[in-house]
Amino acid sequence: MNRIVGIFVVCAGVCAAADVFPTSAGNVEITPIQHASLMLQAGGKVLYVDPAQGRYDGRPPADYILITDIHGDHLAPAVIEKLRKPGTVIVAPKAVAETVKDARVLSNGESTTLGAFKIDAIPMYNLKPAANGQVYHEKGRGNGYIVTYGGKRFYIAGDTEGIPEMLALRNIDVAFIPMNLPFTMTPEAAAAAVRAFHPAVVYPYHYRGQDTKIFARALEGTGIDVRLRDWYAQ
Ligand code: ZN
Repeated sequence: MNRIVGIFVVCAGVCAAADVFPTSAGNVEITPIQHASLMLQAGGKVLYVDPAQGRYDGRPPADYILITDIHGDHLAPAVIEKLRKPGTVIVAPKAVAETVKDARVLSNGESTTLGAFKIDAIPMYNLKPAANGQVYHEKGRGNGYIVTYGGKRFYIAGDTEGIPEMLALRNIDVAFIPMNLPFTMTPEAAAAAVRAFHPAVVYPYHYRGQDTKIFARALEGTGIDVRLRDWYAQ
């Protein structure tokens, strides 16, 4: 019991706090959990993206879960089962839906609605093989997502480089952008991509081992609000 209480206290003190974004339908609260895992809360609903890493004890059950890809830092069936309740809707690409029971399949370019949330599936992939010759993210397998709520657009990029589909985005209010080789891109490449589509707010996420200050410095003077959070505090 003491040990459990201790873990909770550590998390309560160190975990990144929620950020609040006003929309026409009320506030959206976003809580970074760890690495690529985050939680959105709005209108009394709870939407998780890639709940896989970090702690889930004490977190609310999911109304909605979005999964981007098959890798273990995005897809953790045990965590999904922990957060799932009757009526939870899980949205995932086909490759993920093969291992998650009753997921709603969404492919690149498709859209769906989850209550007051609109979900658009955006491609996510590597532009070229990594230095070791591997292609970690083939085009078409995974989904990034744009979550629209109350007129605000939240873009969760997934594991991707600065692909043309990202650069062509417009009117993104808040973006979550990965940066780590060999899986996605460097902080410099991520900053170049973000300059092109110019979200109002950007969070580096999925950046284990990288210096996010390089990313922030590369965007100085652009007017983009770069928010550095500790996604690895737990
Ligand atoms: Zn990943």
